Amino acid sequence: MKRLAILGSTGSIGTQTLKVLESVQGFTVVALSCGRNFSLFKDQLLKYRPPYAASLTLNSELENCGLTTKFFWGEDGIEKMLEVSRPDYVLIAVSGAVGLRFSLKATEVCERLCLANKESIVCGGQLLLEKCRARNVRLIPVDSEHSGLFQLLNEERGERPERIFITASGGALRDWPEEKLHEATPKDVLNHPVWSMGSRITVDSASMVNKGLEVIEAHYLFDYPEKAIETYICRNSYIHAGVIYGDGVVKLHAGRPDMRVPIAYSLTYPAREKNSTPESIVGLPLVLDPMTPGKYRTLELARAICGQLPRQIAYNAADEIAVAAFVEGTIPFGNIYHIIKETVARFADQNLGDYRQILEVDKRARSLAREEVNRWYWQ
Ligand code: NDP
Ligand code: MG
Repeated sequence: MKRLAILGSTGSIGTQTLKVLESVQGFTVVALSCGRNFSLFKDQLLKYRPPYAASLTLNSELENCGLTTKFFWGEDGIEKMLEVSRPDYVLIAVSGAVGLRFSLKATEVCERLCLANKESIVCGGQLLLEKCRARNVRLIPVDSEHSGLFQLLNEERGERPERIFITASGGALRDWPEEKLHEATPKDVLNHPVWSMGSRITVDSASMVNKGLEVIEAHYLFDYPEKAIETYICRNSYIHAGVIYGDGVVKLHAGRPDMRVPIAYSLTYPAREKNSTPESIVGLPLVLDPMTPGKYRTLELARAICGQLPRQIAYNAADEIAVAAFVEGTIPFGNIYHIIKETVARFADQNLGDYRQILEVDKRARSLAREEVNRWYWQ
C-alpha cells in the first residue's frame, strides 16, 4: 500500500481524487487538508479516517468530532502534517501560489509529487524541479494537457519532437464577440462549456490566463522554448496535447475530458487504471482551431514573460487578486487583463535564488495588484 496525502481535498481536484480512489487499489489515505470548507471536510474525515488532517484555520468542532485523527492548522500546520504523516505520494490540489510552499515541503518527505497546482511551477520555476531532482522525487503533472505531454514525451525513444502543443476549450465566452467580452458577468464566465472546475480556473479559462499559465508550466516541465509551445482551440476538449516532429508526423494525446483520468494516471504511473467500459471513439470529431490573433491578450502577455520568474509570479498574483475582485463584482471582466499587465510591468527580470525571495515578489505583486483593482474599479 502506498501512503497518500491529499492537499486541498475539498476542492474540485481533491474531491475527484477521492472519487478515483474508489476504483484504484493500492492506496491508503494518511493525510488530508482543506482550506475552510469544514462541513465537507468533516464528511471526508469520517469516511476516510486519515490519521492526520489539517485546515487553514482552527475549527474546534472538527477536533471534537470523535475521531482519533491528529489535527494541525494554518499553513505551518499543513507543512507539519506532511512531515509527520510520512506519505509516499503527495497530491497537491490546493489552488493558488500558496501551493508552491506545500510542493517544496512535499519534496522533502515523499517519493512522488502528483502536481495539479500549476502555480507551483509558474512561481517556483527551476527551484521546484531542482528540489525534485536532488531528492529523487518523481513529479507527475495532473493538469490534463501536461499529463498528455508527459505521456507523449516520456514514451519517446528516438528524436525529440520539434514542437509541442496544448489545447484550450475556449472557456465560457468562446462564442462571444470580442467587443462584448469586457462586460461579461461572473455568472456568464463561471458557466464552463466542458469542464467543471474551481472558480478561479474557470474564470482563467475564459480569460485565457489559464492557457498562459500552462504555456509557462510546459516550458519548465518539458524544457521547450515558449516559441515551440503552440496553443489551439479544441472545442470538445478531446485532444489535450500533441507533439510535432521534423518530418511532419503529429502525435496526439486524446481522450474524454475527465480530470479523473490524469489524476488516476499520476497515481498509478507507469501502470494505467483499467476501465471496464472503454468508450467508443467512432465518429468523434478531433478538430483543432487556431487562436484568433489579438483576441487573447493575457496569453500573449504570458508568452512574452515566459522564463522570467519575477514577472511570472507577478502575473499569477495579479490574476488571483483580479479574479477575486471580478467574482465579487468589483471589476468588469475586461479589467483582469489591465490589472495583470500593469502589475507585471512593475517587475524586472532577475534571478530569484530561494523561496523567501519568491514570497517577497508574490507579496509585493499582490499589494500592487490591489492598488490596480482600486484604480480600475470604475473604468
Ligand atoms: P478549488 O478552488 O476547487 O479547490 C482548492 C482547494 O484548495 C480546496 O480544498 C481549498 O479548501 C484549498 N485551499 C484554498 N486555499 C488554500 C490555502 N491558502 N491553503 C490551503 N488550502 C487551500 O480548486 P481546483 O480543484 O479547481 O484547482 C486546484 C489546483 O489544480 C489549481 O492550481 C488549478 O489550477 C489546478 N487544476 C485544476 C483543474 C480542475 O479541473 N479543477 C484542472 C487542472 C489543474 P476549501 O475549499 O476547504 O477552502
Ligand atoms: Mg489544464
